[in-house]
Amino acid sequence: MDFNTLFQAQLDDLKKEGNYRVFANLKRQRGAFPVADCQNGDSASQVTVWCSNDYLGMGQHPKVLQAMHEVLEECGAGAGGTRNISGTNHYHLLLEQELADLHGKEAALLFTSGYVSNWAALSTLGSRLPGAVILSDALNHASMIEGIRHARCDKVIWKHNDVEDLDRKLAAVGPDRPKIVAFESVYSMDGDIAPIAEICDVAEKHGAMTYLDEVHAVGLYGRRGGGVSERDNVADRVTLIEGTLGKAFGVMGGYITGSEALCDFVRSFASGFIFTTALPPAVAAGARASIRHLKESEMERARQRRQVARLRAALDAHGIPHLPNSSHIIPVMIGDPVKCRMISDILLQDFGIYVQPINYPTVPKGTERLRLTPSPLHSDADIDYLVKALSSLWKQCALSRAVG
Ligand code: PLP
Repeated sequence: MDFNTLFQAQLDDLKKEGNYRVFANLKRQRGAFPVADCQNGDSASQVTVWCSNDYLGMGQHPKVLQAMHEVLEECGAGAGGTRNISGTNHYHLLLEQELADLHGKEAALLFTSGYVSNWAALSTLGSRLPGAVILSDALNHASMIEGIRHARCDKVIWKHNDVEDLDRKLAAVGPDRPKIVAFESVYSMDGDIAPIAEICDVAEKHGAMTYLDEVHAVGLYGRRGGGVSERDNVADRVTLIEGTLGKAFGVMGGYITGSEALCDFVRSFASGFIFTTALPPAVAAGARASIRHLKESEMERARQRRQVARLRAALDAHGIPHLPNSSHIIPVMIGDPVKCRMISDILLQDFGIYVQPINYPTVPKGTERLRLTPSPLHSDADIDYLVKALSSLWKQCALSRAVG
């Protein structure tokens, strides 16, 4: 059988639809974020990155780098095993204590990524709690969907951020079955924010546990960077808070926090925790330094909010349509995969601006977009330059402008 022909046929379909993904060959430059080198064949040019999830530029923060250097020298490169078999390092335990404290929980459990933490925790809860039902928000991330699928328990999808629909659907599940309400705080593609307190009200009414993904909120919201649940004063009402160390904290890894018993339960049964090599100790130390810094420092969050507001106002002034929301994510709507790819290519080639197209399956067909994430390190001049570039492209590509 000619497997390559089979592979190629599907790749060709993707290309025809405009949904084939091309990765920019970037070399991040410490101390220069959001500027990176972009390699194109033998030549390299400098670009300004406008779509990074290193939301606060912590990936280059001196305290983070110093902690990583020190622990690299102290412990060497890798963890040396799974957590179970010689891989648990002192720095993992320190990081877990830091995370439990961040969310005001008894315990935390580390994973190698946010994806793995969702996949492992949800699949373990759904499969090991007899008769469990997972009630999942319609726009939950792929990692949660995969975890739920792997749980092979009953699943009910409730309308996105619709508390009444959740209430109805919880009421329809038998009172004695363990119910898990799974949702996110900041939804990464539309940038909208869940009504966490109201969801907790409904979950408590029906005796359900709550599973909250704060991946796009930790480090960014709340007085100490504990996420939207901290900002809204509801962290103590959420049973399990999940997060990443790879976005606002600027490093890598994922985690859950909750009661001692809950974290011990996942630690003891989750194959995605048990059967994989632990994070390198230096990575754990860097993430801990980042969390500790953002618990104390408001400067990065305040400056990010300023730059987000400034970019929104500049887009409005030029009639560039973007989805309204109250988060740091600015989706500039294009609504066509080919145009979205083309605009992204022109921005890169002609303007030195890198913002990758967001096409299907990441977002539904017809809602293709550029997803802008202003950081505290984007200057006012960067914003003016980006909006000027977008404005000239809007003219060139005959895209409709926002009115009013
Ligand atoms: N949860 C959400 C909502 C996400 O958007 C992502 C990744 O973008 C993840 C989880 C996975 O996190 P990580 O990138 O740490 O694997």
